[in-house]
Amino acid sequence: MADKKAPSDTITFLGTGGARIMVATQILASGGMWLNLGGTEILVDPGPGCIVQSTKRKLRADRLSAIILSHRHLDHTGDVNVMTEAMTQGGFKPRGRLFTPADALENEPVIFSYLKNYLEGIELLKEGKSYAIGGVSLATPVRHIHPVETYGLLFKTEKHTFSYIADTRYFDGLLKSYGGELLIINVVFSEPRPDIDHLSVPDAKRLITELKPKAAILTHFGMPMWRARPWEIAQRLTEETGVRVVSARDGMRFDLAQLEG
Ligand SMILES: [Zn+2]
Repeated sequence: MADKKAPSDTITFLGTGGARIMVATQILASGGMWLNLGGTEILVDPGPGCIVQSTKRKLRADRLSAIILSHRHLDHTGDVNVMTEAMTQGGFKPRGRLFTPADALENEPVIFSYLKNYLEGIELLKEGKSYAIGGVSLATPVRHIHPVETYGLLFKTEKHTFSYIADTRYFDGLLKSYGGELLIINVVFSEPRPDIDHLSVPDAKRLITELKPKAAILTHFGMPMWRARPWEIAQRLTEETGVRVVSARDGMRFDLAQLEG
């Protein structure tokens, strides 16, 4: 991979599936996103299969500086234990921090207690806070509307600013909280489902239209979204919003350098 070259900012989509049925069938992989931001490597939302998807792409967990959980749901945390072991070489080389909402550590914690000793630390995500990971700044501007404590992530690197809008019901606070050249949006539904706290395509369109990034990436597809052909939806949104909209593919590596100039 590009680790040894001049630092760039890349995002590898280990999986693009979301929600229960997609994760159970693995029609699309799950596993989260692997960020390499100027050489600082960060794993976001290690869902089931993360260890398989990352090792098969020769991504080295023992180079990670942090694992971030947007929230405790299984499709975002299923592999957090094995990834913590991999990051710390089975505990022989303590390393890295875990960033997580507090409720993921409360009753039924998502991480085994023995693994906490392998970490350099645990940072609790809270609304309105920011954190530093190497040269990268991370903010959790707003608590999402989702059945468990959930935060999206706003990253600032030396060269780029981008947002990951994790699972949530749409609310206008999202518009005040996120921005940057790139929006990554978890779009579980093609059509609005007001009874369920997830974003749909019309919500994504509103976010893209209002926030005007240089590009947007749709990911975390539930079965209805997959059946609706996300690549065609992305093409339509590109035409309707004037913003380049991409539907993520399993294994896709996105280099933020392509947004420069
Ligand atoms: Zn969720």
